Amino acid sequence: MTSIVKECVLNMSDSNDLDEAITEWYVFSYHESNNDTYRCHCGRLINNVYILKNKITHAHIQLGSICQNVFKEQVKYYHNNFIQSILPIYEEINY
Ligand SMILES: [Zn+2]
Repeated sequence: MTSIVKECVLNMSDSNDLDEAITEWYVFSYHESNNDTYRCHCGRLINNVYILKNKITHAHIQLGSICQNVFKEQVKYYHNNFIQSILPIYEEINY
């Protein structure tokens, strides 16, 4: 995750601690795009568009797969079971 994304996640979270703040977020929607119209919050053009939502502040952020993966890695560390429960949803949406 780039520092821009980290900063933004912190600003939009209830907690001021990044590790804790990350646990407030979940994947709200996902879709693929073939035309270069979507950008990750870090500025990169993206084909895999993830919208993550904060369950406390209700803020949302648009991320590409790279930033979202780093996010996911960190979330996994704290919420192993949570990630396992949303993975089938990814597959459903992808299909
Ligand atoms: Zn990014």
